[in-house]
Amino acid sequence: MNTTFLIVGGGQAGAQAIDTLRREGFDGRLILVGEERELPYQRPPLSKKFLHGELAADRLPFKHRAFYDEHGVELRLGSRAIRLDRAARAVDLGDGARLTYDRALLCLGARARPLKCAGADLPGIHYLRTIDDANALRAELRAGAHAVIVGGGYIGLEAAAACRHFGLEATVLEMADRVMARVVSPAVSAFFAEAHRARGVRILCNTRVESIEGRDRVAAVVCGDGTRLAADLVIVGVGALPVTDLAADAGLAVDDGIVVDEYCRTADPSIFAAGDCVNHPSPHYGRRVRLESVDNAFEQGKTAALNMLGRDVVHDRIPWFWSDQYEHKLLIVGLQADGDERVTRGDPRRGGFSTLYLRNGELTAVEAVDDTKDYMAARKLIAARTRLDPAKAADKSRDLREAAI
Ligand SMILES: Cc1cc2nc3c(=O)[nH]c(=O)nc-3n(C[C@H](O)[C@H](O)[C@H](O)COP(=O)(O)OP(=O)(O)OC[C@H]3O[C@@H](n4cnc5c(N)ncnc54)[C@H](O)[C@@H]3O)c2cc1C
Repeated sequence: MNTTFLIVGGGQAGAQAIDTLRREGFDGRLILVGEERELPYQRPPLSKKFLHGELAADRLPFKHRAFYDEHGVELRLGSRAIRLDRAARAVDLGDGARLTYDRALLCLGARARPLKCAGADLPGIHYLRTIDDANALRAELRAGAHAVIVGGGYIGLEAAAACRHFGLEATVLEMADRVMARVVSPAVSAFFAEAHRARGVRILCNTRVESIEGRDRVAAVVCGDGTRLAADLVIVGVGALPVTDLAADAGLAVDDGIVVDEYCRTADPSIFAAGDCVNHPSPHYGRRVRLESVDNAFEQGKTAALNMLGRDVVHDRIPWFWSDQYEHKLLIVGLQADGDERVTRGDPRRGGFSTLYLRNGELTAVEAVDDTKDYMAARKLIAARTRLDPAKAADKSRDLREAAI
């Protein structure tokens, strides 16, 4: 009998799982259900080159339609899975169809966290998660307009860079006392804040949005201290929430993400999950995490696919992430929160420096600003659980590997 594998969610993880399954010789029925109409596509350019108008829409998909045809992948795009019936091993779609499976993989991703305040649903307020979001935003990026960006994280700052690229006035409102506070060191925050200020972006930290005003569309943002900022458009980048309803409604464990084991398997042996929607164990760091990154979705999509084929592969990767802002590249490897000592390597007023995180002397994470060499070295050092001499590690004239104890 023909085995059916059903992938729900056509993003980075789902696309990778399909690729791996066919590459590894799975010759059963393979179905992809995706809520978006587009073929699976890359999201990072949506806040970078695509938003800047430097990358055409036809460059976004991972694979062209011919790939899916040639590999016998049944595409159910523009179709939302609304119910997972574990007893019947079936998924119901919004259009009334029912698909049965032998094994299912949930790659549901995350959705933009909505802003909750008066006026938050006015036209002219933008989020950035999908191609449709990016197209709608791009249409409003007109020179001279004033954009207020809520949230000084990656998405907010990358959007601010795009606003300046198109000649808009850009003001970033950040609740914390520095930008990207949740994810990078104060030195890296300060470097990027300065890069944005030098390009004319106004950054207001310790600032909360109280309400958004406007009659037919957004006209102003009112801050917690009463400041009123005129706005032609508002871009909201206040984080993302894992999409878990399908799993939770089917009785699968959910705890800031669909709970899986190190094989990307839920408690139901025929259901796997991967990517932004997943809470998974990190054997290297000895704790559970939920990550939002291309690397994580790619690797978990691959691992889940191999385990759907019965290969017993453990997902144990050192996570990495990048962000592009103007000419600067931020590369992060490892989990910063695990460090108990921070070392600055190089001059943080200029590019080409890093923040290193150590735990009991062992290198656990690195944030490298315009420094691919340190980043590459760090990947290997972290994976090998290398202990570093902090004084030697801080000395930029030495190769980072020379600091190994
Ligand atoms: C603007 C932007 C910029 C980014 N930049 C970077 C970057 O520079 N570096 C980096 O590492 N990461 C970046 N990321 C994060 C990265 O893109 C994500 O981590 C990655 O896309 C996650 O892949 P995924 O497959 O888990 O989820 P997604 O790519 O979100 O895909 C999930 C898919 O599932 C679909 N879906 C959900 N529920 C259902 C349902 N019930 N039925 C059918 N389909 C469903 C969704 O519509 C979506 O298409 C960025 C993300 C965004 C939005």
